[in-house]
Amino acid sequence: MTDFASLKLAQPLLRAIKDEGYSKPTPIQQASIETIIEGHDLMGVAQTGTGKTAAFSLPLLHVLSDNEGRKAIPCQPLALVLAPTRELAGQIGDSLRLYGRHVPLRSMVVFGGVNIRPQIQALKRGTHILVATPGRLIDLMNQGYCKLDRVKMFVLDEADTMLDMGFIHDVRKIAEKLPGTHQTIMFSATMAKTVKKLADGLLDDPVHVAVAPEATTAEKIEQRVMFVPRDKKRQLLTEILGDEDIKRVLIFTRTKHGANRVAKQLGQKGIRAEAIHGNKSQNQRQKALNNFRAGRIRALVATDIAARGIDVEGVTHVINFELPNEPENYVHRIGRTARAGCEGIAISLCEKDERAWLRDIEKTIRASVPVDRDHPYHCEEIARHTGPAPKRGGGGRGRNGGGGGHSRRSRTRGQGGEASGKRSGRRCNRNTRRSGSRAA
Ligand code: AMP
Repeated sequence: MTDFASLKLAQPLLRAIKDEGYSKPTPIQQASIETIIEGHDLMGVAQTGTGKTAAFSLPLLHVLSDNEGRKAIPCQPLALVLAPTRELAGQIGDSLRLYGRHVPLRSMVVFGGVNIRPQIQALKRGTHILVATPGRLIDLMNQGYCKLDRVKMFVLDEADTMLDMGFIHDVRKIAEKLPGTHQTIMFSATMAKTVKKLADGLLDDPVHVAVAPEATTAEKIEQRVMFVPRDKKRQLLTEILGDEDIKRVLIFTRTKHGANRVAKQLGQKGIRAEAIHGNKSQNQRQKALNNFRAGRIRALVATDIAARGIDVEGVTHVINFELPNEPENYVHRIGRTARAGCEGIAISLCEKDERAWLRDIEKTIRASVPVDRDHPYHCEEIARHTGPAPKRGGGGRGRNGGGGGHSRRSRTRGQGGEASGKRSGRRCNRNTRRSGSRAA
């Protein structure tokens, strides 16, 4: 069995890992850490929840801590981590601080939607590692407060979300400013064509690592679908939440307005809930997330984009109040529960118009979602409905991810199995969490 010590990590990092209570590396960590330490470019296919943040943070800290005694230079980081959302950038910053607490390296996070001045001051004081969202980084570069000439390691996290959110041009602009020799590490939940094109342009002879092809990650989550008429969904949701075992629940809607409505209605029923989506300010989003993490609210109602990258421990349930019209989003959504080897339950409320989307989802996960008829609003007509899918609205994939890169030889390492073991029969908390049981 591989343990962290055999991955060549420096002692101060092993101490931090021990402090965290991690007993062994997850499959993506087993497959990535040494490769990155050895200096290879890496293309990792892994979702949030597989331990991918540590998979790049630990070797990054290891490599940089070799620069013993080198002081941080104002406005010139040695490593750059790009993340698509503020939440994800914040979480990566937290992880770097946690894993790097025994090494003398500074890290900081910059993202938009908040005052730029404190970020400028911090950059002027100097940082070894900079975690950034693309837009704010470009602002800071344009104003002369961030130069990438000394970057040795460049991490692009959640490349697929980056493309979905239309950041392709920003990412390219940033990549152009990197020095001639640097190491690039890219992570993505999927290997869609656009991601591949981007990887071809950015990575040099990369090692490929992958865990859990998307379609199979769903296997460790107990899923069910409830067929319900549209006008009964709200009552059904309230009834489901009557179950006290549902301690921390992430509820998904397709639209921002829908998220607001559901949060408000739950509040009226005495269920503590808040909504999180793109129209909320950074402060509101952070506050809602903190309240959810601290258990001050029981339900967080989110849209797909807002929820990407959110890492909250112990989400016991995911409820799809509305089904996603992109099947990949179903996998992303339900992946918010059953994190790092814990069990989780995902319940989908499906009305007539969403029936065809459910079929798309079942094709993608290569399994049928068990039907729960044991509720007062079950509608057999919807269960049997075989009509066509309504039109897919907006969003989705397929934005231009033009790469311009020439094709490169690539190697493959660590084709892993699932990122988690069998259901543990225990709820998720820090002490009972298990990492993946199958080696990559
Ligand atoms: P990530 O995929 O980076 O979002 O990580 C998901 C969660 O797994 C985080 O809460 C980490 O703290 C946790 N985690 C990462 N690595 C391990 C490990 N080796 N053992 C147990 N938990 C881990």
